[in-house]
Amino acid sequence: MKFKDLPYSRPDPDRIRTDYEAVNKAVSAAKSGEELVECVHRHEKILSRYRTSAALAAIRHSLNTSDAFYKSENDFFDEYAPLFDESVNAFYDALLRSPFRAGAEKICGRTLFQVIETERKCFSPKIIPLLQEENALESRYQDLIAGARILFDGKELNVPLLAPYKVSPDRATRKAALEAEGLFYCSIGAELDAIFAQMVSVRTKIAHSLGFSSFTDLGYLRMGRFSYGREEVGLFRRSVRENVTPAVCRLKKRQSAINGVPDMKMYDDLFLFPDGNARPLGGAADILSAGKKMYTSLSPECASFIDALYSGEMLDVEARAGKATGGYCESLPDYGTTFIFSNFNGTEDDVNVLTHEAGHAFADYMVRDFPFLETASPTMEGCETHSMSMEFFAWRYLKDFYGPGARKAAYSHLSDALAFLPYGCMVDEFQHMVYDSPSLTPKERHGVWEELENTYRPYLDRKGIPFYGEGRGWQRQLHVYMHPFYYVDYCLAQTAALSFWADSMKDYPAAFSRYMTFVKAGGSLGFPGLCKAAGIRSPFEEGALPAVLSAAEKWFSENDPVSFSSPEGIESAG
Ligand code: ZN
Repeated sequence: MKFKDLPYSRPDPDRIRTDYEAVNKAVSAAKSGEELVECVHRHEKILSRYRTSAALAAIRHSLNTSDAFYKSENDFFDEYAPLFDESVNAFYDALLRSPFRAGAEKICGRTLFQVIETERKCFSPKIIPLLQEENALESRYQDLIAGARILFDGKELNVPLLAPYKVSPDRATRKAALEAEGLFYCSIGAELDAIFAQMVSVRTKIAHSLGFSSFTDLGYLRMGRFSYGREEVGLFRRSVRENVTPAVCRLKKRQSAINGVPDMKMYDDLFLFPDGNARPLGGAADILSAGKKMYTSLSPECASFIDALYSGEMLDVEARAGKATGGYCESLPDYGTTFIFSNFNGTEDDVNVLTHEAGHAFADYMVRDFPFLETASPTMEGCETHSMSMEFFAWRYLKDFYGPGARKAAYSHLSDALAFLPYGCMVDEFQHMVYDSPSLTPKERHGVWEELENTYRPYLDRKGIPFYGEGRGWQRQLHVYMHPFYYVDYCLAQTAALSFWADSMKDYPAAFSRYMTFVKAGGSLGFPGLCKAAGIRSPFEEGALPAVLSAAEKWFSENDPVSFSSPEGIESAG
């Protein structure tokens, strides 16, 4: 079936409530582990139907934000989601208390129960009004950003459409584009401060009423983390500061020499080559067809995935008026499929839709028959490992996306991957600091960010740039507002992806087969367990980060951009 033909209906809250009441009765009446598992399957059916409707409403709303029907459906889910959670949590409660739980655990696997226990700690019916308040604040932030109209180059642009100007070979253009963006954020700065202050307050209240001393602890549980905690994450950040920050400083020094810009500023940061960054060949149709070629050649499973994705028209990639900004990938469990949403803008981002977002969709596809939604997908660092590793496995096919620009694309991918780690870790540390000290003023929060910038990215000269030069840069990071504590997951995933990359440089088929082991395990294990099963080092293991770093630095020493004038592809990419 094609995406446009997938039927939608709004869930009936009364029916869901009575369905769950019946399931909970069956849980109490269960006389064995087997009978308890039957109840779990009944819950899975309700959950899958609900998630499918919610996803369908959200996708169709984002495809055309002026469609009144899906706008009101989307509003319905904003209001109803916490009430649905209440029903689910009542079921989880009953399940965890059942005397036959151990028998059910034997059949379903320990992880399912770890996931449920973790989720159970994040909810109580008494926080429902606070959750609704939190949802409303998140929508306010989204609307504020979506309403961006930046006058630039004689056009009215939103933030993503400014991206190509920020990597223009013309330095004055890059500077003007970054300043225009900064001025836009400054113009809504007071509102951004106010929304965040209210978010910290409501999230802290939620944490306190659930018995946590800080929202940070709840933030970890909301991310579903049951196999590591603050201490491991803190050590990982330290390793990034000590190892990756100096390596990025060396890369930036080389970039400054190659580009002949001794006084590199923030607006030069993304500009890697004197004659401009790699640009995808052709338009959307060409990128889509290069993507098709890549997945078809990668493996039989990848081939059947891309066939299903394209024939079901499960993607909408071109920017147009009325469409929401950004990009995402959303699964529709009842239909066994996943939808990809994005806004092509003519930069490398467009290729990432086929490598990154489709990597997520591929992983979803591989677990579409898993019996439990809770353990079909891993926690977010596992999901991002699916997509970020696929970006590296795509190196073999970069010629199809970039033609002679393939080596540049590989270089900028690897160098962005390293530069991302310090940034991601400072976003994470920032959130620890602001939620552990909820009474900080907006000005003090900007001060915290400023200090983190100096620690993690000492090479980045932001002086004099509106917004970014004032310690406010964190406010453009959507996750800080919308998905607290998500960000370090990208750093952990990037480290795991770099491990697959380093392996793929030595033995591509063996590395890809290990990647498939990781993907096929879905969420049946915690993140460190998944790494172990796939035969890569967990990012928390001592020495894991330095090992991938030295592989990357070796690659850079063999692939200096001054040698890129020859138009051949990236031979060493395997
Ligand atoms: Zn992703």
